[in-house]
Amino acid sequence: MTKKVRNINGISNNNCRCGSWLAHWEKFSGRKAVFCSEAGCANQAEAGGQVLRVGANDDNWYIIPLCKEHNALTGRAIEVIDATIFVPVDAEETCGSEGHGR
Ligand SMILES: [Zn+2]
Ligand SMILES: [Zn+2]
Repeated sequence: MTKKVRNINGISNNNCRCGSWLAHWEKFSGRKAVFCSEAGCANQAEAGGQVLRVGANDDNWYIIPLCKEHNALTGRAIEVIDATIFVPVDAEETCGSEGHGR
């Protein structure tokens, strides 16, 4: 089983206090990112990719672990494994609040 997402990296340059989106994903998922979420991809997770869920009636932006190759596919739809944990980008408002204005 897979889920379809659209890679929206680069639409916004927002960042947060976690240091990287991959660190952000680990912090809020409580997991260690090991492999790319793309179904059939065996590469290591090297970045937190910003994605939209396709066909889920959900406009929120999420972070998922991706390899460099899949993280670079901005604007493209990719299939991710069913067990993928979607961490909302909005969590940035919590983890990023102390950093504003510095
Ligand atoms: Zn964060
Ligand atoms: Zn990949």
